[in-house]
Amino acid sequence: MTADEKLQRYVVPNYGRYPIWPVRANGTEVWDRDGKRYLDFAGGVAVCPVGHAHPAIVEALSKQASTLIHVSNWYCIEGQAHLAERLVNEVVEIEGKCFFCNSGAEANEGLLKLARRYGVQQRGLKAPKIITFTNSFHGRTLGAMFATAQSKIWGDFGLEPAELGYIHLPFNDTSALKSVFSQHSDIVAVLLEPIQGESGVNAVTADFLRTAQSLCRAHNALLLLDEVQCGFGRAGHLSGWRAIIPGDEIQPDGISWAKAMGSGYPLGAFWVRDAAMPNGGKLCDLLGPGSHGTTYGGSPLACAVGLATVDTIINEDLCGNAEMVGNFIRTEATAWKHPLITTIRQKGLFIGFELEADSIKRAAGEKAPSIFLAGLLLNAGLMTVPAGPNVVRWLPPLNISKQDAIEALSIMRAVLDEVSTPMP
Ligand SMILES: *Cc1c(COP(=O)(O)O)cnc(C)c1O
Repeated sequence: MTADEKLQRYVVPNYGRYPIWPVRANGTEVWDRDGKRYLDFAGGVAVCPVGHAHPAIVEALSKQASTLIHVSNWYCIEGQAHLAERLVNEVVEIEGKCFFCNSGAEANEGLLKLARRYGVQQRGLKAPKIITFTNSFHGRTLGAMFATAQSKIWGDFGLEPAELGYIHLPFNDTSALKSVFSQHSDIVAVLLEPIQGESGVNAVTADFLRTAQSLCRAHNALLLLDEVQCGFGRAGHLSGWRAIIPGDEIQPDGISWAKAMGSGYPLGAFWVRDAAMPNGGKLCDLLGPGSHGTTYGGSPLACAVGLATVDTIINEDLCGNAEMVGNFIRTEATAWKHPLITTIRQKGLFIGFELEADSIKRAAGEKAPSIFLAGLLLNAGLMTVPAGPNVVRWLPPLNISKQDAIEALSIMRAVLDEVSTPMP
């Protein structure tokens, strides 16, 4: 049986996959089993910040693999201590503590549990409520998927968001947020992505983020930021929210990460602020022994890769590179004034091209314009990621060169021109 037949027969068909079979990669290049080369402007989905087979990552992985891959969290793990210190002091730059897990959904679950426990233990609530926003994406576990305010994610699973304590509000609507806080006395947290990824690179407005923070402070609720996609340099800053409001004005209570954190090795984490709680004790110590856990989270191997990833991003100034090359891409692509692109949303190397859906639909047939166009780009040798029905996202490694950007731009332009040329 061929691999194609085995995939069909033995793997759950939950993904709509493009029919290519990548087998190896280096830097920004990926090759499939037929030897065809692709320029990787998807990076998994925002997972490969330093490119493929980066020597620092390969060395950290192989060295740690031959030293100690795994011990349980019954013991003390050196890598967790070092990585947590780096995250607190270099990434967040606000005093706090970290918990390590394996994915973005799991990191968000941790924050959601933190908020609910805060509500129960510190505010005496029976049914705490958490606010999340339209077009968000927080992951696929039960908690995270009902936090995700898109019914296509949670529909047909036999529960309603409200049953799990979620209130979904329109994103960036300050008056809706104010009015919900004035109507409910049991809100324990606001969870948002500083820059929404799956909806097509939509940033929170500075005004909305400030309002969310002040409402949370005034109502004794937690401000939780999902930085799973926008964090770790993607938006040109180690912390994604600082691409919206630089400096220390925003002091989140919790932050979740994953994706880029492990350069492709499964690694997620959340951070909790060192803040005093109303009934005594600190927020960063709220999840005490027995309250939370994971078997794999924070293994020596995962932490070694995480440390190598953060250090490489910092040492090679990849935030600076993301900012520089990202701005270059936006400037170049904006100058095309291409009829098939309506808007370009860009922060660092977090780039969304909003497509002129009606024109593309004619060529796309049944497919969503974003999926159709990403397929054409793939055939032309450029990996990208669809976001929602109408946006193609670029999420390349943060260390791409200007030359890589020029190549990607020329592929994109040629494909767009082809689609916009009427068929003979
Ligand atoms: C990808 C993503 C998640 C989920 O991460 P998984 O590792 O797939 O569980 C959560 N939040 C955001 C913003 C994401 O982009």
